[in-house]
Amino acid sequence: MTFVPSFKIGETVSNEQLYTEFSCGNMGGIRPSSTNNCVVLISDHTKSLYDDKWYGNELHYTGTGKIGDQSLDDPKNKKIAKSNTTGIALFLFEVMEPTRYTYRGQMKLSGNPYQEVQPDDNGNVRKVWMFPLTAVEEQSITQSELKNYVETRRKKVQGLPISELRQQAIKHKTKFGSNRPVTSNTYIRDEFIAEYTKRYAKGVCELCENDAPFKDKGGNPYLESHHIIWLSKGGPDSIENTVALCPNCHRKMHIVADQNDINKLLTKAKERAQNE
Ligand SMILES: [Zn+2]
Ligand SMILES: [Zn+2]
Repeated sequence: MTFVPSFKIGETVSNEQLYTEFSCGNMGGIRPSSTNNCVVLISDHTKSLYDDKWYGNELHYTGTGKIGDQSLDDPKNKKIAKSNTTGIALFLFEVMEPTRYTYRGQMKLSGNPYQEVQPDDNGNVRKVWMFPLTAVEEQSITQSELKNYVETRRKKVQGLPISELRQQAIKHKTKFGSNRPVTSNTYIRDEFIAEYTKRYAKGVCELCENDAPFKDKGGNPYLESHHIIWLSKGGPDSIENTVALCPNCHRKMHIVADQNDINKLLTKAKERAQNE
């Protein structure tokens, strides 16, 4: 009988909840539990610059061994490598923010382990073992989890000197882009409001007041519809809250969100709502 944990897929727990539930160790990335005949795998995206990568439903998981070449004779790596024949169950947690363990469900070794070159903790190049693991149950991450993941990684690389960045950038080359299913709740803007405000702008950006930088395939000036108070922040979908912006200004509103710009756009949209 395969152990069935009480956690739901996607649930985030503390380290203590994790090791108590599985009766496994409280440290490390690969944590065997003889009580429950399983291994808990932690894919920690906050620790090293090297990262386990997802390709759809498949995770390429890095084995254990911090210094020197990793070995399949290591008892923990061996447990993963032999899991299909021994029947030992693999359970995965991901860490996208420090100390928060998100349960991803049961995984199965889905291909032959292979070797990859990565630097060890001392910065020396060595060989690691990669394990292709497929999620037993379909799963996806949420938009906000993805955002946290990207943010955490971005902050990590920002502090690096450009020489190091180049070295890493070259080594990080993959044949296929890492990808995985993400669930999102998307706001659907009203087309009448978007089209009316764009038409009203007559090809002129309502923030910088310059002509649209290019025409679309239909020969119309290209502007984008923007909600001054974002829908995700509770803003209404109305002509009083919608403007037509050039792509540059649109990005600026999302990245900088300058209060002066917001005020200027709110005034414009309100005036337009009063005009006919
Ligand atoms: Zn503009
Ligand atoms: Zn926008």
